[in-house]
Amino acid sequence: MKQYDFVIVGAGLFGAVFACEMRRIGKKCLVIDKREHRGGNVYCEEIDNINVHKYGAHIFHTNDKKIWDYVNSFVPFNRYTNSPMANYKGKLYNLPFNMNTFYQLWGVKTPEEAKNKIQEQIAESFESEPKNLEEQALSLVGEDIYRILIKGYTEKQWGRRAVDLPAFIIKRLPVRFTFDNNYFDDKYQGIPIGGYNKLIDGLLEGVEVQLNTDYFEDRTHWSDISEQVVFTGKIDQFFDYKFGVLEYRSLRFETERLETENYQGNAVVNYTEAEVPYTRILEHKHFEFGKQPTTVITKEYPCEWTPGIEPYYPINDEKNSAMFKQYQQLGENETNVIFGGRLAEYRYYDMHQVIGSALKKVEVIKSRY
Ligand code: FAD
Ligand code: UDP
Repeated sequence: MKQYDFVIVGAGLFGAVFACEMRRIGKKCLVIDKREHRGGNVYCEEIDNINVHKYGAHIFHTNDKKIWDYVNSFVPFNRYTNSPMANYKGKLYNLPFNMNTFYQLWGVKTPEEAKNKIQEQIAESFESEPKNLEEQALSLVGEDIYRILIKGYTEKQWGRRAVDLPAFIIKRLPVRFTFDNNYFDDKYQGIPIGGYNKLIDGLLEGVEVQLNTDYFEDRTHWSDISEQVVFTGKIDQFFDYKFGVLEYRSLRFETERLETENYQGNAVVNYTEAEVPYTRILEHKHFEFGKQPTTVITKEYPCEWTPGIEPYYPINDEKNSAMFKQYQQLGENETNVIFGGRLAEYRYYDMHQVIGSALKKVEVIKSRY
């Protein structure tokens, strides 16, 4: 018998959900993380009583009642509705693309007028499936919206031309012919009251966690002390980059505390022109309707991932997806390692999807006992 049933690499949502569920059935888990805190990318840092989303804006949304009830069983969520604004050359537009946006762009006041305008804007009709993000956007919303609200933002966010990006990235954004600025179509949406750390603390209650510990510094040790390893880090690194280095997009965050009560009147303002080097400014207090006398804002500057910085967004283009498949196949042969989460599955997962993926894995493991 080894010391632990599971050593879980990564105290992010995947690792925390997995650990929680295994603890519930009496399995002994040790969670390690190379960072100095738990929570992975949902971690919040408190400044002036404001929960600052340290790794970018995190808004929980899902259509799955089970997952919504699951997270709410650890901490109640508020009803924050994400309604970001877009700033293009000093002019403001509502997002996602809806009647408010169409009015701001073209002065159209009815859905019929808006549909006609968009139809005029769609220069070519694409008969087959759009092949890339640019085609997808143009065929959906036409030239003006693409130029003002999509192209600049997308190309700086991904550091690639929109014609070289997969169409699915933009499919996340709704197009609506109602005056509705809700960014998400999902039934459930909100922010944990008191911040995401409460969710992570709830999940990791009673679980041993060791921070500032990089799995790769002594990987045989972790296998020696556990029956199985759950790995939520970079899958290419796990296999010593033998098929090459998977590409990621990263971000640099510039956070400032300001002696003002309300800086931008909204939690998220996107800057959609190519010339502004950041993609968005967050004002964290608005996620929880904060009334503090000061405020904290963060500018997000996209950059390419290089060793030593955090890999945030997998780049699911053809080249990287093909490389990932090779790593995935190797992963399937590893009988004592379970791979999961945004980095190990190399997927542009949202939080509810990561939780769903972890719960699914848990069910598979439980059926073995
Ligand atoms: P992570 O949170 O990345 O956790 C992995 C953990 O593993 C990290 O703590 C890392 O330090 C640790 N680790 C990695 N390698 C090692 C190693 N070698 N040794 C030890 N530890 C290691 N989702 C939403 O639903 N809504 C949003 O609004 C939203 N906004 C986002 C904004 C940004 C900028 C980003 C980057 C993501 C956003 N997401 C959002 C996605 C969300 O962050 C992820 O779905 C979720 O946090 C992924 O959880 P995870 O456990 O897979 O990975
Ligand atoms: N996007 C855009 N303009 C915007 C916001 C988003 O073109 O103002 C595109 C961009 O390509 C982005 C994608 O839509 O990568 C998904 O946006 P989302 O806000 O979901 O991105 P995330 O929060 O995951 O960074």
